[in-house]
Amino acid sequence: MARLTPPAIVILGAGALETARRIRMLYAGCQVHALQGRVEADVSYTELRAHLCDLYARGTPIIALCAAGIVIRCVAPLLSNKGVEPPVLTVAEDGSAVVPLLGGLAGVNVMAREIAAALNVSPAITTSGELRFGTCVLNPPEGYALADIAQGKRFVSDLLAGESTRIEGEAPWLDDAQLPRSESARLVIRVTPRAWDGRDDELVIHPRSVVAAVAVPSPGASSNTDTDLATNSDPDTQTTSGERIAALVHEALNAHGLAPLSLAALLIPSEHMANPALADAAASLNVPLRFAQAGPEDGEPPSNLLHAALRVPYQTLHDDAEAGVALALAALAIDPDTIGRTRGRLTVIGLGPGSAELMVPAARTALNEATDILGYETYVKMAGPLRADQRVHGTDNREEMQRARHAFELASTGRSVVMVSSGDPGVFAMAAAVLEALEEGASTNADWRAVQLAIVPGVSAAMATAAQAGAPLGHDFCMLSLSDNLKPWSIIEKRLRHAAEADLVMAFYNPISRARPWQLDKALDIVREYRTAATKVVLGRDIGRAGSTLRTITLGELRSSDVDMRTMVIVGSSTTRAFANGIDGDEWVYTPRWYQ
Ligand code: SAH
Repeated sequence: MARLTPPAIVILGAGALETARRIRMLYAGCQVHALQGRVEADVSYTELRAHLCDLYARGTPIIALCAAGIVIRCVAPLLSNKGVEPPVLTVAEDGSAVVPLLGGLAGVNVMAREIAAALNVSPAITTSGELRFGTCVLNPPEGYALADIAQGKRFVSDLLAGESTRIEGEAPWLDDAQLPRSESARLVIRVTPRAWDGRDDELVIHPRSVVAAVAVPSPGASSNTDTDLATNSDPDTQTTSGERIAALVHEALNAHGLAPLSLAALLIPSEHMANPALADAAASLNVPLRFAQAGPEDGEPPSNLLHAALRVPYQTLHDDAEAGVALALAALAIDPDTIGRTRGRLTVIGLGPGSAELMVPAARTALNEATDILGYETYVKMAGPLRADQRVHGTDNREEMQRARHAFELASTGRSVVMVSSGDPGVFAMAAAVLEALEEGASTNADWRAVQLAIVPGVSAAMATAAQAGAPLGHDFCMLSLSDNLKPWSIIEKRLRHAAEADLVMAFYNPISRARPWQLDKALDIVREYRTAATKVVLGRDIGRAGSTLRTITLGELRSSDVDMRTMVIVGSSTTRAFANGIDGDEWVYTPRWYQ
């Protein structure tokens, strides 16, 4: 089955706690989220609408113990976005009603049944097909794919109209379904890797049971010499594009009458791990890439077949000798995780300042796909909720290089590692440590080079703070870390002096800490040599997190006691200005784009 994010049980008051606890026992890693101040729970939130939207946008299944109408109104603005639709259910506080609302194709009715069974009530299921047959015929389990959803809907409406069906092929998940079956039925549910020929009396479900072994030419291979595919190759010399490889796989499937949806994986010799064309091909075919040594193996089918396929010179597989494709067909759906291994990944992400809306979608995707998550405990918590199957290597360990090396060690064994930073990972954070570790370690650890490394940007604290205050970074600015942990204080002083003299707006990261108590005052003394006391200063604390504060003061008023290590200090330039926003007595601060 698909690895689902554990659901969030959302409650408003203590009256729902008892029911919430009963439901929580059904799902590993599931947490109860309660309104702050009303009741103690695993997670607290301050505003229901924002919290539900946040969970929904993260793709977290929601079990809300409140009126259905409340939930509908809260998530309504997000419904036009077809991207994610996690299961959303409401349950009566006293456990007397279970109402699935959204996420039909994400298994909401399955959850409704599970919860209702635990609460000893009947779920309020309204999906006709489900009601009649006890299962969603159009939602086959992981490893199977419906050939055509439109045809599927027609087929189910024929069944609802009273027709019966036969089943051809292996469909164990339908064994318990109350389908009207008859051996002589006109309608047939066919579980087959063969392509659907368009007949409207068939519901075709493809088991993902085909693996395509793809051999690409090794370097120096000319189109008419036999090539040993097991030799090393340099990705630079490979010219076959991902699109072309995908097209060759399609041709091979077509030639055997096999449906593209039956494809479970592409299997590639390990030495081609870093060839981007193969990754493109797999992405365009929407299947995982798996890698295996092309040497002799005596594994079980299908891997022995595939290993044999990998050893076939590509010329014998395809006339034009660009790349060879060999297909292996298994009797049942294949779990791609059991074939060869995957290419390890390390993705360094920025969470943004705190709230989910300010995290870029690519970071959320990386987290969803991660097997292992590394970072300071606080950030790992911010990245959640995580699934029970995701390994967290949270630590207070300040040794960042050590953590970066650990990330490569994990990733080079084929795991999908995410390293979390707050804000942007490249701004005074882990991305530079990761690259430093790679540069140092790659010569001795060849495996590290094959790791697929990506850095996903985030909204940095300076940007998030500036946006709340207005546009103080509207003209030239610089970002400075006032921490002298990794650089001498003399350099910081010199840079401050130059930046102040150059009239740059300055964003101070790491402005102060218990271990660095005097540095900020020293820095401000330097700035005051160049800027007037009336210079605008913005202080953003815990921006994007619970209890955030934003203040606009002047350089003259600023005291180091106004600042702590969770504060972003933006010191304006000579042109930075402010005016009352006319609503709540606050000010807009901005630095005009022009200069006099
Ligand atoms: N990579 C992070 C910065 C890490 S340095 C980013 O791009 O934002 C840590 C410093 O960033 C803190 O000392 C503080 O000055 C600032 N900071 C991080 N998150 C913040 C937030 N939510 N609100 C205000 N300042 C923050």
